Amino acid sequence: MTSPTEPHRHDVVIVGGGAAGLSAAVTLARSLRDVLVIDAGEPRNAPAVGAHNLLGREGVAPLDLLEAGRQEAAAYGAQIRRGRATTARRTPDGFDVTLADGDTVTARRLLLATGLVDELPDVPGVRELWGTHVLHCPYCHGYEVRGRRIGVLATSPNALHQTLLLRQLSADITLFLHEAPEPDDEAWVQLEALGICVVTGQVRELARDGDCLRAVVLADGHAFAVDAVAVQPRFVARGDLYEQLGGTLTENPLGRHITRDPAGATDLPGVWTAGNAGDLSAMVGASAAQGVMAGAAINADLVMADVHAAVQARATARRS
Ligand SMILES: Cc1cc2nc3c(=O)[nH]c(=O)nc-3n(C[C@H](O)[C@H](O)[C@H](O)COP(=O)(O)OP(=O)(O)OC[C@H]3O[C@@H](n4cnc5c(N)ncnc54)[C@H](O)[C@@H]3O)c2cc1C
Repeated sequence: MTSPTEPHRHDVVIVGGGAAGLSAAVTLARSLRDVLVIDAGEPRNAPAVGAHNLLGREGVAPLDLLEAGRQEAAAYGAQIRRGRATTARRTPDGFDVTLADGDTVTARRLLLATGLVDELPDVPGVRELWGTHVLHCPYCHGYEVRGRRIGVLATSPNALHQTLLLRQLSADITLFLHEAPEPDDEAWVQLEALGICVVTGQVRELARDGDCLRAVVLADGHAFAVDAVAVQPRFVARGDLYEQLGGTLTENPLGRHITRDPAGATDLPGVWTAGNAGDLSAMVGASAAQGVMAGAAINADLVMADVHAAVQARATARRS
C-alpha cells in the first residue's frame, strides 16, 4: 500500500510509445496492470508516408497508426505521457524514472521500447531526403520505387546485398562505390550478370530540387540522374537508460542493441526491451509482436512476484 507521502508506484513504466511500447501497454493494461507510457514522440519511421508490410493496416501513415495505438491502450486504462525519460535508477523495490521536466515516476518493472537512431552517411542531401527519396529497406519502400532509377550509395559491405535485393524491383540500378570496399571477383561477376552499373569515386552530394531528388553528384562534378537512393545506416539503439542501469549495448555488424531473450528480458533483472532497441532489424509488425510478448512476460513475472508475496504473508499470518 502506498502512503500519502510515497509517490504512486506503477506496475510498469514503458519508455517509448512506438509500435513496441504501445503494444506492450495494451497487453499489460488488458491484464489490469497499472501502466505508464512515457513517449518523446519521435518514432523512427515518422518521415515515411506510409508503413508497409503491415497486415490489416497496409500503407497506414506512421503517426496515424500510433495515434490509434494510444487510443487503444488508453481505452484499457494505460496512461500515456508525452515527455522524455532522462534517467533511470534501480531502487530496492523497482525503478525510478526521471523525465526531462524534472518529475520522477516509480515502477515495479521497466520496459525499454526506445527504438533506435539511424546514423546516416554524412553526404549532403541524405538527411534532407531521408524517408522520402533516400531509403534503406527494400521491403519498406522498395515497391514504391519499383522500375525507377535507383542509386545505391555504398558505405558498408552490406551495400552489395542491398543492391541485389533492389535489382529485384528495378532494372535500373547504379551502385556508387563511394567509401565502400571494392567488390570481390564473385561480386563483380554478379553485378555484371545483372546489368548493374558500378560507379567508382567519392560522392559529393545528392542534388535536390526542393524536396525532390535530382541526381547523385560525384566529387569530380559528374552527375547521375536518379529517382531514389538507398543507403546503409548504422543502427544504434537508444540505450542511455539501459547503460545508466548498468547494462552494456551489444555490437553487431549492423550497429548496437540491447541483448534480450525471446520474450524481451534483458541481462538486468526487472528490465525488458521490445522493438528496435533490442532487435535492429524488426519492422513495425515484428516490433509490435515483441511488445505483446514482453507485456505478457512482464505480467507473468509480476503475477509470480505477487503469488510469492501472498504465500509469505499467509505464512507470517499463521505464525502470529
Ligand atoms: C524511413 C523509415 C521507414 C520505415 N518504413 C517501414 C515500413 O514501411 N514498414 C515497417 O514495417 N517498418 C518500417 N520502418 C521500420 C519501423 O520504423 C520500425 O520497425 C519501428 O518504428 C520500430 O518500432 P519501435 O517501437 O521499436 O521504435 P519507434 O517507432 O522508433 O518508437 C520509439 C519511441 O520511443 C521514444 N523514445 C525514445 N527514447 C525515449 C526516451 N528516453 N523517453 C521517452 N521516449 C523515448 C521515441 O520518441 C519514439 O516515439 C521504417 C523505418 C524507417 C527509418
